[in-house]
Amino acid sequence: MSILLIGDFTETEYATWSSRLLLHLPGNEPLVQATREYDKRAVRVALVANPPAGSLSSLPNLRFIQSLWAGVDQLLSDASLPTDIPLARLVDPAMTQAMVECAIAQVFYLHRQLPTYLKQQSERMWRQLAQPLASDRSVGVLGLGALGLPVARALAALGFPVVGWSLNPRKDTSIESYHGTDGLAKVANKSRILINLLPLTSQTARILNEALFQQLPTGAALMNLARGGHLVERDLLAALDDQRLTHAVLDVFNAEPLPADHAFWTHPQITVFPHVAATTDPASAARIASENIAAFFAGRNVSGLVCRSRGY
Ligand code: NDP
Repeated sequence: MSILLIGDFTETEYATWSSRLLLHLPGNEPLVQATREYDKRAVRVALVANPPAGSLSSLPNLRFIQSLWAGVDQLLSDASLPTDIPLARLVDPAMTQAMVECAIAQVFYLHRQLPTYLKQQSERMWRQLAQPLASDRSVGVLGLGALGLPVARALAALGFPVVGWSLNPRKDTSIESYHGTDGLAKVANKSRILINLLPLTSQTARILNEALFQQLPTGAALMNLARGGHLVERDLLAALDDQRLTHAVLDVFNAEPLPADHAFWTHPQITVFPHVAATTDPASAARIASENIAAFFAGRNVSGLVCRSRGY
């Protein structure tokens, strides 16, 4: 029996992941790599990071799939993915901390009006803008999961009024939150900065669109830290053009890398990041994935178990 490592890795990345995983995986099951020869019948566990479509359907004894990425939208879009094999996504405190740091940095970038001051500097313009405090700038967070909730709490602790949105009603009251379609309008109405941390599913695809932008306060800013498929790019450009939105910070895109001729690169009201809000750290991810495999075979709770019907 063996554990298969398979993803869109370079040979160097395979080597990094293998060495990290070998520190934590139980010693009795060899780790095999998809780019080398291996016995498909021996594979009990697949450790995956955007594996080629169809690659997991030919493993007859597969019992558990562990994603090394937090988002599983691409994996679930593979129609041949076995539906009866439990699938876990990565839930990693190191990644959560990175996402919290990123969200705080970007909220202050927008809150302290750095895009405007940087533009003024490029024009040698000395102009002092009004200085609202955090308590004057409400922030909305779409998605209150492993990443969204800690982001919401960290921003609330810094004095921003925070509202959040989830699929199901939340029992804890640490963050003012709403759910369902009506709830989205309430969150949008209150969000001078709107942060997207939803998973990409059939229900959330293209959710950052004209209708939602119309519900934001005029002059709001958008931050998409989740997936490019959430955003209707044309609607964003129109909302920026008519000043409904003042700025967008985008970390994720429909096409990655963002094509060199894409309008976003040079748009004065868009800040582009190359999908770096919270990257997977192989050191911590290897430990968590290994612990999850051990938990699965011991019949204990597995972290990040994906519900196939919900899509996240
Ligand atoms: P979780 O699964 O932990 O949380 C998802 C949240 O979204 C939950 O609160 C869930 O509601 C809510 N949600 C899901 N569907 C809907 C819906 N239809 N309507 C309203 N709310 C909904 O995900 P994570 O927090 O771990 O990650 C979120 C996403 O962030 C990932 O899927 C990935 O795409 C992206 N990501 C981006 C990174 C980057 O570097 N840019 C890095 C890592 C992740 P409920 O609580 O009711 O279940």
